[in-house]
Amino acid sequence: MTLRDLLRPDLDDLEDYVPVKPYDVLAAELGVPVERLVKLDANENLYGPLPAVRAAAAAADLHIYPDPGQTRLRAAIADYVQVDPAQVVAGAGADDLIDIIIRLVDPPAVVVPTPAFGMYRFLAKVAGATPIEIRRRPNFDLDVVAIRHAVQETGARLVFLTHPNNPTGNPLQIAELEALLSLDAIVVVDEAYIEFGGRTVVPLIRHHPNLVVLRTFSKWAALAGLRVGYSVSSPELAAEMMRIKQPYNVNVAAEAAALAALEHRAEIAKTIAAIVAERERMTRLVAGLGWLEPLPSVANFVLFAVHGRPAREIAASLRQRGILVRYYDRPDLAGHLRISAGRPADTDALVTALQELS
Ligand code: PMP
Repeated sequence: MTLRDLLRPDLDDLEDYVPVKPYDVLAAELGVPVERLVKLDANENLYGPLPAVRAAAAAADLHIYPDPGQTRLRAAIADYVQVDPAQVVAGAGADDLIDIIIRLVDPPAVVVPTPAFGMYRFLAKVAGATPIEIRRRPNFDLDVVAIRHAVQETGARLVFLTHPNNPTGNPLQIAELEALLSLDAIVVVDEAYIEFGGRTVVPLIRHHPNLVVLRTFSKWAALAGLRVGYSVSSPELAAEMMRIKQPYNVNVAAEAAALAALEHRAEIAKTIAAIVAERERMTRLVAGLGWLEPLPSVANFVLFAVHGRPAREIAASLRQRGILVRYYDRPDLAGHLRISAGRPADTDALVTALQELS
């Protein structure tokens, strides 16, 4: 018997989730100093956390286990989202909540409209569920009829929607969501980017106990490296999620930073506004070159269709100049690049490099 014989055979065809590489690894690979990297490939918040948030994380009692009931954090999040603390579950990033929900529902199949954030497919497969991918329409709105059909045909009890969607940046239409909430399925609406635009669907939870909204501190609060996210749902569903999560899933530094970020949210709102303004300026300047066509976005990134040349080559040439954007090697996004909104200097470096490539 080999080691492989002891392991699950159904994971043999699992494609790796392709995560972005950390700054220092990339800088070393490209031979440029870290401070010269223009990192527009992972929708991170390049302003970084506020000093007060950093200080809170640094002051955490690292020798003490975190609170498994997440009492303070759930209360602070509930105040921010305007729900009851019993409706909130925190996790090690929104990714952790995606995993918890899949394991709680344990469906044979999971329906994902594509193009989509890759983690739904990846975690579904790891949990032994079949991801059923339903192509969005040409304007990237949902194909509601096909999704409904897929849920009914496969017995999928779980649907993942993203609002605004990654990588397309468009918001979810409320009528589309309502048409799906009547299904016998848990409908997850991932609002990882909602602080940058789009109207939250949290108020719909009151009438739809099968709706779960996911959020994260990774983007607006610039805490991607600390891993804090949360879900908002009916209290019944939240209680079940609390029962199966790892007790210490949010570490003490992450909890302290998240609490500080919520406390200082008025200050952070200024950088959110700056990023939104930069999204608009970046879109205008890049579109002005004449060969990159933007899709309207309400998130902190923009998907561009590249005309007249291969997107892969543009991404590679930018990379040589220390500018990182996201290229997707898959048919439904062929000829596209996703570019995050950064600081004004990041946009300037991007536009200068693209002008050189024009
Ligand atoms: N959902 C979406 C749509 C995302 O794009 C991302 C991050 N790329 C996440 C969730 C993950 O968030 P977190 O860092 O909180 O795990």
